[in-house]
Amino acid sequence: MKQTIVLGNIITMDEKRPFARAALVKDGVFAYIGSAEEAKKLAGADAKVLDYGENFIYPGFLESHCHGHLAGLRFIGQADLMQAGLTDYAKYREIIKEFIAKNPKREFYVAAGWIENDEYVTKAYLDEICPDKPLLLQTGGGHSMLLNTKALEWAGIDAAYAKKYGYDQVHVDENGEPDGYICEGPVFEIVPKLPTTIEDIKEYLLAWQDFALRSGFTAVCDAGAEIVHRDAPRAYHELEVEGKLKLRTYAYMYVLDNIENPKAEIARIAAQRATISGEYFHIVGAKAFLDGVTEAHTGWQNQDYADEPGYHGVERFNDHDKMVELITEADKEGMSVHVHSEGGGATHFMLGCIEDAEKITGNKDQRNVLAHLHFVTEEDIHRMAETGSVPAVPPLWTAKIPGHYEIEVSYVGEELAANAYPIKSFYDAGANVVFHSDYPVSPMMNVKYSIYTAEKRSYPKEVLGGIDLPNNEKEAITREQSLRAMTINVARQWRQEHRMGSIEFGKLANMTVFDCDFLHDDIEKVAQANIVATIVDGEEVYKA
Ligand SMILES: [Zn+2]
Repeated sequence: MKQTIVLGNIITMDEKRPFARAALVKDGVFAYIGSAEEAKKLAGADAKVLDYGENFIYPGFLESHCHGHLAGLRFIGQADLMQAGLTDYAKYREIIKEFIAKNPKREFYVAAGWIENDEYVTKAYLDEICPDKPLLLQTGGGHSMLLNTKALEWAGIDAAYAKKYGYDQVHVDENGEPDGYICEGPVFEIVPKLPTTIEDIKEYLLAWQDFALRSGFTAVCDAGAEIVHRDAPRAYHELEVEGKLKLRTYAYMYVLDNIENPKAEIARIAAQRATISGEYFHIVGAKAFLDGVTEAHTGWQNQDYADEPGYHGVERFNDHDKMVELITEADKEGMSVHVHSEGGGATHFMLGCIEDAEKITGNKDQRNVLAHLHFVTEEDIHRMAETGSVPAVPPLWTAKIPGHYEIEVSYVGEELAANAYPIKSFYDAGANVVFHSDYPVSPMMNVKYSIYTAEKRSYPKEVLGGIDLPNNEKEAITREQSLRAMTINVARQWRQEHRMGSIEFGKLANMTVFDCDFLHDDIEKVAQANIVATIVDGEEVYKA
């Protein structure tokens, strides 16, 4: 039997014993939590010791909504234009050329993180950088693309295609030929066709795993594991069979808008669970998009956009009966439904569906997840708790950023903007609140900054140089609540609370060590915290 004694200041997140000095791990599971003397007495002579001195040991941190495959793809599979900061076409050229030089064998190049500005570029710009192979430029949000001549040929985008889609989605030059710029429909048609092998995806997932463990996360949720590539779940599974996974992933499978046959879709996901789901890659439900995002004018609001009367945003999955069926069928399989729900209208719709499904299933604890929750009414905050639904909230998005905030006010009005991203109200209503980062769609997945922003409702100075201001400060929460939202509450979202989320007898020995007391240290010290180690199944998988 493998035995390890872990020493340090242990914050257990177990109400019965909030603090301890030592833990004894046997075969990857906590066998004892308490004093160092007792742990040493109980352990065999051959027990290994991990001594973290005066550092602070937390249950391994958990992330409720991010996108692993996409993150790995951005790390190593694409040229990363985000490095350029703001739009800079000369700098973009350098980054892409460097990526091509490093990856000469690729048949295909994608550069992601392009930020469009009023400088209009066409295929000629990309042809100069890469004349002989397809090259695609993709925006961070993924709704627009620029293609070089080779890429247009590969994708079959010609004058006839442009005519079919309309010139607002496929831009053309004076001769009616595509100039390289496409958006929306054609983009979503092309992305799944980008040539990727299962071996590529496995490499991306390992790069992602490395990042997540280094960041202190021991288990994460892939919110739509098939969105970028249908084969991603199979890649996770192969890595698990090969014994290469350490990071546990709880996945929700991607469901199309107003899916034709919800019952068949849940059967498909259940079959996937039966064949490729295991200990480290585990399927827990379905993921759907209800709307877009407010900053793109596509969040589904409860009211019309202030600058566009008669329009309240994009309703993506808006078929009530189909959603009720999806939830009901998921419940039969012991699964739940996870939705992208940004605007107040989307959340109101979803809660109505959950209530109607509960009348059928009788299950008031299905733990369906609503993620993002930019604007929510008081009434819906209470319905979230009453229906046993999980609000996945983004503390890292709560700050008021000059420029962005004014645009938001022009879309939804001052009152809603000033009351954005409630968190405390969800706790007060009794809901199981979880934090999410939406990494890498959003640029940070970070324990210390999540705690900081949840308390201050603004970033520490080093993030944006101090230009942001706190917003909706009455929704600030306590440190203890923040820790719960990244540990035990996320475990509950996945129905894994008996196995993870706190340092307790019989649970998996997953831990994260920081040089900071997140419960008591000054908040500015929290912002400077350093990660010391990440431990999975009693083994150190990362050491700073
Ligand atoms: Zn997401």
